[in-house]
Amino acid sequence: MSGRVANTVTIGGFAHVGSAGVGGDFPVLIQTMWKDRLSLADTKGEAGAALAGRIEGLGRMGCGLLRFAVPDLEAAETLGHLASLVSMPLVADIHFDYKIALRCMDFPIAKIRVNPGNIGGRERVRPVLEKAAAKGIPIRVGVNAGSLPPDLRRRVDTAEALAEAAERELAVFEEFGFDKILVSMKASGIADTVKANRILAERTSVPLHIGVTEAGPLVAGVARSAVALAALLAEGIGDTLRVSLSDTMENEVIAAREILAAAAEMTALPALQPFDFVAAEHVEAQGQADRFKRPGVTIVSCPRCGRYGFDTHGFTARWMPALYALDRDISVAVMGCAVNGPEEAKHADLGITGAGDKVLIFRHGKVIRTINAAEADSAFREALEKL
Ligand code: SF4
Repeated sequence: MSGRVANTVTIGGFAHVGSAGVGGDFPVLIQTMWKDRLSLADTKGEAGAALAGRIEGLGRMGCGLLRFAVPDLEAAETLGHLASLVSMPLVADIHFDYKIALRCMDFPIAKIRVNPGNIGGRERVRPVLEKAAAKGIPIRVGVNAGSLPPDLRRRVDTAEALAEAAERELAVFEEFGFDKILVSMKASGIADTVKANRILAERTSVPLHIGVTEAGPLVAGVARSAVALAALLAEGIGDTLRVSLSDTMENEVIAAREILAAAAEMTALPALQPFDFVAAEHVEAQGQADRFKRPGVTIVSCPRCGRYGFDTHGFTARWMPALYALDRDISVAVMGCAVNGPEEAKHADLGITGAGDKVLIFRHGKVIRTINAAEADSAFREALEKL
């Protein structure tokens, strides 16, 4: 694939909080996401200094943008205070409640991310866009395979559905005259992720945030992300990226740097198309895919954020060796909360997710057991044995 129109939209808001820009000729920006809940007290005194130190450390490692889950108005205040402490551009990640997005924009944040699949209709989007335009704050529309509009969920082609959902949102933003926009289309499937981004890159010049969602634990997540992101970067697709791992933010940044460095090296071989096999519709590539595949467990796990109610990092670390040793062709999802939990992972043969102070075990999106966190391992083992 070639001939992509160079992105022309930049994130003007970044000019006020750092030198970062996205799109056009700006370097591809590395980002990560804070993985724990924060309170206002965490941003004060010695704790606040330590917090700011860790964030600035991420910046020195190469992270140019840091996203925070903002589940309520208290979290908005916390993020707002934090934004005044650090030079790192901070992003507010909003689900469900547009009023939280409005409150976040009272502070010097760099960007907001909304999920149109759950933020509500046009009457809720309009005030968000109006305030963002007035403040010069860009918005990322984050479309996820697990929260597509109902009519698109029925589509067999997930990538087409993701691209269409993104295009619908772009049309709304365009109608309101809002152009400080980025788009992400994420699925846990590598081929879906690559294809969706290819489609939108062909049809628009909007800056793209690329990444494989719930890519998995450290090693598996890096491998999966590297294949998908390198394929896109090799085609000139992607303006900012995140390697989403059930592991530390620092490792996400290191992985992103290494993927970008490898992609840069590969540009020295313009005739080589090492990732063409990703195009599954290609007959020869399909033959290759059969040679690559082997039975076994596929693990999808969320990277965790401030919304988490279940420690996906610890659980995947404990269960990885046993799951990889299983001679079963199944998929297992390990999710931190119900925001994206059972729905996002409805394809999974077996899943586990936090839900408030409880933990849910589910199969194909249907909850089969509700337990306390202390019982998570034993309940999961029982459910696995019954598969
Ligand atoms: S599943 Fe929940 S905890 Fe995990 S990254 Fe998504 S919103 Fe955060």
